[in-house]
Amino acid sequence: MGILWKENGTFKEEGIERGESLWIQKQYQDKESSNGSTGNYSIRPSLKGDISTEVAVIGAGLAGVLIAYLLQSRGVPVVVLECRTTGSGVSKNTTAKITSQHGLIYKKLITYKGEQRAWEYAMANQLAIDKYRDIIKELNISCDYEVLANYIYTLDNEQKIRQEVDAALRLGLPAVFTKDTSLPFKVKAAIRFDNQAQFHPLKFLNGLADKIKIYENTRVTQINKDGLILTDQGSVKAKKVVIATHYPFINVPGYYFIRLHQERSYLTALEGYDYDKSTLDGMYLDADPDGYTFRKYKDYLILGGAGHRTGKYQPPDAYAKLERAARKWYPKSNIKYTWSAQDCMTPDSIPYIGRYSVRTPNIYVATGFNKWGMTGSMVSAMVISDMITGKENEYRKVFTPRRLMLSGSRAFIKDAAIITISLLSEHLKIPHDKLKDIEKEKAGVIRYNGQRIGVYRDREDKYYFVTTKCPHLGCKLEWNQNEMTWDCPCHGSRFDYHGNLINNPAMRDAFDSCIRKKSKL
Ligand SMILES: Cc1cc2nc3c(=O)[nH]c(=O)nc-3n(C[C@H](O)[C@H](O)[C@H](O)COP(=O)(O)OP(=O)(O)OC[C@H]3O[C@@H](n4cnc5c(N)ncnc54)[C@H](O)[C@@H]3O)c2cc1C
Repeated sequence: MGILWKENGTFKEEGIERGESLWIQKQYQDKESSNGSTGNYSIRPSLKGDISTEVAVIGAGLAGVLIAYLLQSRGVPVVVLECRTTGSGVSKNTTAKITSQHGLIYKKLITYKGEQRAWEYAMANQLAIDKYRDIIKELNISCDYEVLANYIYTLDNEQKIRQEVDAALRLGLPAVFTKDTSLPFKVKAAIRFDNQAQFHPLKFLNGLADKIKIYENTRVTQINKDGLILTDQGSVKAKKVVIATHYPFINVPGYYFIRLHQERSYLTALEGYDYDKSTLDGMYLDADPDGYTFRKYKDYLILGGAGHRTGKYQPPDAYAKLERAARKWYPKSNIKYTWSAQDCMTPDSIPYIGRYSVRTPNIYVATGFNKWGMTGSMVSAMVISDMITGKENEYRKVFTPRRLMLSGSRAFIKDAAIITISLLSEHLKIPHDKLKDIEKEKAGVIRYNGQRIGVYRDREDKYYFVTTKCPHLGCKLEWNQNEMTWDCPCHGSRFDYHGNLINNPAMRDAFDSCIRKKSKL
């Protein structure tokens, strides 16, 4: 049987992220307080040798682990293959609000997809909230799970909130119009959904992961058409394969690279804020994409925002923007941790959950959660486990990856334009920076021997060179000063200034990475 997909190129070492999330920091502290033992967090073995199973799930983020768990609870033999450790992808950096209130989505869904599809989306996500509660209770997972209200607020447009409340109520969702919030500023209007939830995502993931078979540090490098999966550790023969790798890595068939882009947001955990006066009674998000997100975790307040398309470097000072907001609204607080994360976005704001493509009936996919991957992962688990076990799922249709992408989707056309411009500009644009003009701790792009080269200059005057041609599909990488990374505006791959890969879909480092002291270039 032939090869369906094969990783091309090399992947040396993990790229380094600038900040670590509150969840990771707490994980370290939990380990320390349990006297060096791993505490809540198990170490799981790598694959050894060749095995066979009914279903292989690739990726142990929330999506992969939940899919595997629901399959296993129906008696399906399943293994998970994870190239790093459980939860080490986007899931470690999330805000972890479990809600069906995904911005102002319901009016949009009714308008563009019709009431039936909007209802499927609403009900599937509501059911996902209940399913979290049931699993946590049944398995007795200690993950700081709290039932709370979720709010979407606006500072300027009451009308759009009223319209969204109407749309949500029509679909049977628990929407309430309000002007009362516990935010540190006055809002024009807000929608409240009661009985939503929040938790510690890594505690949940690890609690669940202990119930299933996960091979960590096991990187999938090839998939054959007959379901044989090769990894850097051994092989798995599976009747069915689920790709839960955040960004799906098989380019053809499926063509997810023209149907997804990534967006990045920045987060801070504040401590020492005026706890009594600033107590938040729920989770909050501004309806305006330039606004902020709020939730509490124990004594910390998580404040986030400053989102932008990955590779489109805006705003230039994301962390400074968050710091200004924290100082204004919580003047007694200080920023304890900062981190950022990105998620896959679809043109119609609905995830792709189901068969990977018509040409691959035994391969499934769960991606494009549009920053709502807590319920999105649970919905994926419900839909995919039903599909694999031959059970009808009444909410499935709205998520099908086969849906037409050009049907009235301006966002799709915009995405395609950005991809084309970026691909072309790699070949056409002449960069103008000169090496000497690059400031310390900043980056620029120079041309050398006919090639476009990204250069980062560190504090000690060392220069780090990478190709700016993304090894995924050749788009032009852009520098992100917030995170000191080279990011791809087309598909969201990211590399540290050494050129080491941080985020997929690229599967290898940015070539030509090297360090030179006071280079003579
Ligand atoms: C700033 C921010 C805030 C967010 N807040 C919320 C929120 O409050 N509520 C909400 O619902 N959603 C939120 N989200 C979205 C949510 O965090 C994500 O959608 C979700 O975590 C994605 O989970 P995943 O399992 O798809 O991906 P991941 O967690 O990235 O898991 C994919 C896994 O696949 C592995 N992998 C990749 N390639 C291979 C390979 N070749 N072989 C083996 N393994 C591989 C990776 O190592 C990784 O562990 C937020 C997102 C962002 C960016």
